[in-house]
Amino acid sequence: MPATRGARAAASGADTLTTLAVAIDEFADAGTVPAVQRLVHRAARRLTGADGATLIVREGGHCHYVDEDAIEPLWKGSRFPLENCISGWAMLHGEPAVVEDVFADPRIPQDLYRPTFVRSLLVVPIGARRAIGAIGMYWARPHRATDEQVAAARALAAGAATALERARLAQEVERRRVTESDLRELCERDPLTGVLNRRAWDQLLSRALRKGTQPLYVAMIDLDHFKDYNDRHGHPAGDALLRRAAAVWRSAVRAEDVLARYGGEEFAVLLAGCDEDIALEIAERLRLATSDEQNVSIGVARWNGRERATALVERADKALYAAKRGGRDRIVLAA
Ligand code: GH3
Ligand code: MG
Ligand code: MG
Repeated sequence: MPATRGARAAASGADTLTTLAVAIDEFADAGTVPAVQRLVHRAARRLTGADGATLIVREGGHCHYVDEDAIEPLWKGSRFPLENCISGWAMLHGEPAVVEDVFADPRIPQDLYRPTFVRSLLVVPIGARRAIGAIGMYWARPHRATDEQVAAARALAAGAATALERARLAQEVERRRVTESDLRELCERDPLTGVLNRRAWDQLLSRALRKGTQPLYVAMIDLDHFKDYNDRHGHPAGDALLRRAAAVWRSAVRAEDVLARYGGEEFAVLLAGCDEDIALEIAERLRLATSDEQNVSIGVARWNGRERATALVERADKALYAAKRGGRDRIVLAA
């Protein structure tokens, strides 16, 4: 019968190297901080034959016992001031703490250990210059961690440091990527209706003309007598109507068509790759889809293949005003 569980399970030199190599390999595949954390305490027990292992993360002035793998519960989820725990000591000193008898070591807060199975321990800091955490290994019977166990635990901690830094960086990159796409979205969308704004419209139209997409139609839509609607129902009701109209237009156009709020109660639609009858059919769908209480006038212009975006929009706008003059609630195709 071996003297201690630690001694019994202490791996031979070759086993230790194999276990370490496997752990380092697994770190490479662990893309997230929690995944790295899960691997750390498991590998720590495997390497040292300890009865329990914890992963501690430094959070400001505290040690956070993030997770553990042990024969009985330890301190999972708890936080202690750096000065009040042995992992804090290891982090602050940047060196391992080897404790053969926890109740005979003045660095140990003994009240915290009395309810646990721990009699001996080894803690190694994670991180070369400034420790970002620590790995704790615990034995139920008196055991002095061997030099080999300390060396193996330090090697594991070095691998964990790199893996944790990499996973944290990946998390940060992902967080920023989401923020940037959110920002782009915010810059492109009209806040009231959620459709593209004038700025995005200008860019998309210019890009389509540069690409030389033909045939290409622009339709300008304007609500009829919208000032009266606001006067009768109030501005908030006018806002709600704009939102509803934009939503029904969005579903009335094809997925590839561009719908934008050009300004105020005027909207613009870019219809690419369709013939005149389809362009006019879509314009008619837009006219009919608008709410029962509100009519619209629409001007449609086909790009002549040469003119600039402003000239094309101007022709569609002129057709729109011809529709207004002609009695509203209608579509006019520019000459
Ligand atoms: P027309 O048929 O000639 O287009 O008449 P109209 O009253 O629609 O045109 P006019 O240009 O005189 O007025 C546009 C109105 O659209 C006035 C303005 O208050 C309203 N409007 C523009 N933007 C908004 C908005 O964001 N919310 C609301 N509620 N009203 C808006
Ligand atoms: Mg109007
Ligand atoms: Mg208008």
